[in-house]
Amino acid sequence: MTFASRPSSARMSLQVQTGALLGALLFAPFAGLAQTPPAPHRPVMPGILDAIQPDERDIVTDSVPPDLSTYTISAELMTDGASAAAPEIRGSLRLGWTNTTGETLDALPFRLYANGPDREHDAITIAGATVDGEPVEPTLTVDNSILTVPFAEPLERGEDSIVELSFVSVLPVDSSSHYGIFGFDSEEGSLAMAQWYPIVAGRDPDDGWMLDPPSENGDPVFSDTALYDVSVRIEERFELVTTGVEQRDPGAATDGRVTRRFLSGPVRDFTMVADDDLGLRTRDVEGITINSWFPTGQERVGDAVATYTAQALTIFEELLGPYPYTELDIVSVPLNGAAGVEFPQLIYIGQGYYDAGQTLQTPNALDFTVAHEVIHEWFYALVGNNQYDHAFIDEGLTNFLSAQVYFERQYDEAVAARVVDRYLVDPFDSTVRRGDDQIVDQPTDDFPTGNSYVYAAYVKAPLGFRAIQAEIGDTAFFAALRAYVSEFQFRVATPDDLLDAFEEASGEDLGELWRHWFEAAEGERDLQD
Ligand SMILES: [Zn+2]
Repeated sequence: MTFASRPSSARMSLQVQTGALLGALLFAPFAGLAQTPPAPHRPVMPGILDAIQPDERDIVTDSVPPDLSTYTISAELMTDGASAAAPEIRGSLRLGWTNTTGETLDALPFRLYANGPDREHDAITIAGATVDGEPVEPTLTVDNSILTVPFAEPLERGEDSIVELSFVSVLPVDSSSHYGIFGFDSEEGSLAMAQWYPIVAGRDPDDGWMLDPPSENGDPVFSDTALYDVSVRIEERFELVTTGVEQRDPGAATDGRVTRRFLSGPVRDFTMVADDDLGLRTRDVEGITINSWFPTGQERVGDAVATYTAQALTIFEELLGPYPYTELDIVSVPLNGAAGVEFPQLIYIGQGYYDAGQTLQTPNALDFTVAHEVIHEWFYALVGNNQYDHAFIDEGLTNFLSAQVYFERQYDEAVAARVVDRYLVDPFDSTVRRGDDQIVDQPTDDFPTGNSYVYAAYVKAPLGFRAIQAEIGDTAFFAALRAYVSEFQFRVATPDDLLDAFEEASGEDLGELWRHWFEAAEGERDLQD
């Protein structure tokens, strides 16, 4: 089916608001960082705070690390004849990058996460590269998933550089790779676009650049907070759901295409979904617009997703601190082996939920999935972590907060107990009794099987966080999480940072509890009688 894109009233009012602010912000973005102005040739990104709620702009300005990278991307989505051939994104990327690594660098590593050993083909190819205007010859390694761009002269600490890349990303058709986060579903006509552009490798606070092959298990994209200004030329028939807020009316179409521009504010990734068959339900939660996008005809489920998102956002803003952005999009995507996937200001929900037979009785799996992904907006999106090496500090914490805390606060303790038993306690018991207990804090691809990773990150780790909450009490537990978010938002935290937060808030030494749950496989001590 084909529908014209339909601008929502929420988007239209936002455009008026952001348009008025644009002029004021153009010349004074991040005034709080005035002591470290960007060097003259670094572009100043307009509308840097448009995606941030007005009340949060000062706090965000004070919280972001200095010298954030800026990605300015122009892309065209080539979808003509898409039912027969793989759609392509043809893009050019201009990165403003300052060397904040503390070391002199000869080259800058980018990740092409869509490439790699388990991919159907090399999805991203590089057509050209320049550094500060001069052509350079980048090299590809690790199954073409690392693009190393050389500097003409070593880049000293604090110096900056402009890297320009032109690239083509071919969307795999009906691919089961990486849960379906990047690909074209030929039956549904849906284009899921995570990991679609070259992104600077994430930096682990302990280990530096993360240059491992793209992970088989868990979330593949590990990256640092940056600012995005993304323009996409796309057939007018598509709705385009993205990280960030739309900057202006796309204007009249030419050749059936429009150019749409989005500004992200500080985020660690920019993800998009294009689909020509989506309905929309919106909610407003204290100035945040929730957009629930669903397959046309599935209003009942789409409306429930909007409600669940609003419930989770309300509860966790109170417990964890503000979600600082103005929008949160939550969209149906055909996924493989995942119920939902989180991105900054954007959540994928598996299309399988959008069905006339989907139960909406309390408690239900869709409610759980939505709450889980919403909590990721704090743990993964605001507070980053190296999901390759320490997935449990986002996945485990998020799954504990969704299974126990969300259901307890939104419904009651009996409902929460049912969810915790079903999703945490029962699978923990059966796995440990089978002799398959695992050490939680290890790299995702070191687990013997995908199932043992899922057990460690989503079953055992949440019970570890439940044990910490039981030990230190609700007040210290949530004070710790608020302090952790406040200190590490827009940055990358480590397991020690989270442990420190719990110990500081409680005044207790939690080292043994932490070791027992996350660094040992001695779950038989915790079995139910
Ligand atoms: Zn998760």
